[in-house]
This record gives sequence, structure tokens and C-alpha cells, in this order.
Amino acid sequence: MIGAGIVKGMAVTLRHLLRRPFTVQYPEERLPLPERFRGNELIWLVEKCTGCNTCAKACPHGVIQVETSAKLDENRYFVEKFEADMGLCIFCGLCVEACPFEALYLSREFEKATYRHEDMFRRRDDFINAQKNFSGYFYPYLDKERPKRLEGW
Ligand code: SF4
Ligand code: SF4
Repeated sequence: MIGAGIVKGMAVTLRHLLRRPFTVQYPEERLPLPERFRGNELIWLVEKCTGCNTCAKACPHGVIQVETSAKLDENRYFVEKFEADMGLCIFCGLCVEACPFEALYLSREFEKATYRHEDMFRRRDDFINAQKNFSGYFYPYLDKERPKRLEGW
């Protein structure tokens, strides 16, 4: 039939005219983030970290640097340095998966863009003082037990 294509095209247009819009007016409007969303920040828990360096070895981009000193009186290592150049991070999560002590998490923060690369560098104290918005990535129990398991962090 001549003009069938036009009718079909107009039907599609009309259908979309009657739907609610898909777009949101960010940043005034925000979509809810999934619990396991991988943001552009790492969360490091100094109290859990043994300085084993496994995360640094697992990272394909050499983002993380760890240095320790021996605390002979307490029979453990002290983590002198824990640093990450988040400007190089690709948020693959391999470091999080590799950590044997649940000391490293991905964050759900995603508004961390800066004008200068050096502003994306995180030092030990930056990690300690950072606001911790845990992602459930690789830790699905966090979805349900978030408040209980992470109380006090
Ligand atoms: S998320 Fe991936 S790229 Fe980023 S620090 Fe961890 S292992 Fe490295
Ligand atoms: S793998 Fe975990 S415990 Fe080991 S240095 Fe990294 S964050 Fe610390």
C-alpha cells in the first residue's frame, strides 16, 4: 500500500509523544543508583588492611602503592603508605576482588571529576577521612546488611 511507511512512522512518533520522557534533568533530578554501582572512588579501611600488597599486585594499571614497616612489639606490619592515583583507575574492581581481608571496596561516588590529574591522587589520610559510600560490588551481602556490617566505618 502506498504511504504505509509514513503511517507506520507517524504511529511510532505518536507512541513516543504519549510516553513519559526517558531523560532526567541532571543534576537537579537523579536516578536511583543500583547497590552494586561502581563509582570512581575506592574505599580503604585502614583498620582491616594488613599491608599485604595483594591489591597493588592485582591492579593492571599500577594505581595502588603500599608500603609497610614492621611493628615487632605487636607482631604485625604497619601500613605507612597507601596511595592510589584514581586518575589512572579503570574501576575494573580487580583490587577489590583480590583483597583477602575485605579492606578495599569500590565506592558509589561518581561526581569526582577534577580539572587537574593530581587532584585525583589519594593519600593515606584522604582514604581515612573520606566519606564512605560503599558499593555492593563483589560484596553482595552489603546490599542487605549494609548498616549492620559496616557500622562504625
Ligand atoms: S579498580 Fe582496577 S584499575 Fe582501579 S585500582 Fe583497582 S585494580 Fe586498579
Ligand atoms: S590487598 Fe587488602 S589487606 Fe592487602 S594491602 Fe591491599 S587493601 Fe590492604
